[in-house]
Amino acid sequence: MKKEKQCVKCVLDTTVENIIFDENGVCNYCKEYDEVIKTIPTGVDAQNKLNQIAEEIKQDGKNKKYDCIIGLSGGVDSTYLAHLVVELGLRPLVVHVDTGWNSEIAVQNIENIVNILNLDLFTYVIDWEEMKDLQLAFFKASVPDCDIPQDHVFPALLHKIAKENKLKHIISGHNLVTEYVLPRNWSYDSNDLTHILDIHKKFGKIPLKKYPRYSLFDRMFTYRWIFPVKSHRFLNYVPYNKEEIKQFIQEKLGWRDYGGKHFESRFTKFFQSYYLPTKFGFDKRKAHLSNLIVSNQITKEEALKELEKDLYDLKELEYDIEFVCKKLAISREEWNEIMCLPIKKHSEYKSDYNKLWYKTYRKIVEFIKK
Ligand SMILES: [Zn+2]
Repeated sequence: MKKEKQCVKCVLDTTVENIIFDENGVCNYCKEYDEVIKTIPTGVDAQNKLNQIAEEIKQDGKNKKYDCIIGLSGGVDSTYLAHLVVELGLRPLVVHVDTGWNSEIAVQNIENIVNILNLDLFTYVIDWEEMKDLQLAFFKASVPDCDIPQDHVFPALLHKIAKENKLKHIISGHNLVTEYVLPRNWSYDSNDLTHILDIHKKFGKIPLKKYPRYSLFDRMFTYRWIFPVKSHRFLNYVPYNKEEIKQFIQEKLGWRDYGGKHFESRFTKFFQSYYLPTKFGFDKRKAHLSNLIVSNQITKEEALKELEKDLYDLKELEYDIEFVCKKLAISREEWNEIMCLPIKKHSEYKSDYNKLWYKTYRKIVEFIKK
């Protein structure tokens, strides 16, 4: 077997397409992280920035029942965000999107959080027949990022609900410290609606009538100019040590651990720990752990030890494959066929960014900038 070359700093290696190492053996992802993190304020500056945004949100929310929207998956990031938002004196409408894959712990966690923080929860349940059809279409398209059908609906719904409630601010749990490092070919832009619809057109079976959509036009015009909604990433302005945060939310909010990043969704667990590594050789733990290394939360040795662990307990895997097949209403043979399909790249399907009007628009913007 070919020995993979690994970054001297993080645990990414040559299984990552187009990874570049400098003369000291440090990869491009580590270097990009160092650059990006410099642009984020820290200490008092960060606190001031956070207070300033909170003040703006309060002003815009005067005489309204809520002043902002937050999404709550029940994972670490969104859970801590809910706490932070309340602490800043904001009045969020909490939105949970049920894509059909919530683990039991996730449901319990969400309930605990909103009860303890005394928040209003709005749960949006995605039409399961459509979600199932779209997820199967992505598997049949044989592309790596099959989490897109779930990921797309979050911004789509948060913006739609913001508009309906005349709210101008969405606060998201995204953060650089635990999410910046992610090999480019391991995932794909989940906002790309043209991509989603193209894959669905080729492999889907039923029409998508209720599936929430977030088009390129929505992103560039509707929510920027017609009904402007600002998105904020609060977690970038607070010290964010994953272990400390976990401990905190366990103690304060009755939160229970899922055992892995994004495992609040049973689909995402299966997808990250089985589908991606087995079919594509992408082990997302390498990205998650590398984030923790570059942000000085764990050492490389600790990450390597973590990587030695099995991705799945074999018995549990068997159980989960059965569960996923049953849920997607396919036989084990059909699933095996999916696993054996020749691998495709996302670029083999249509994209928002190849639309003529978008390309023309970009050219004009570039021209004006010059
Ligand atoms: Zn690196």
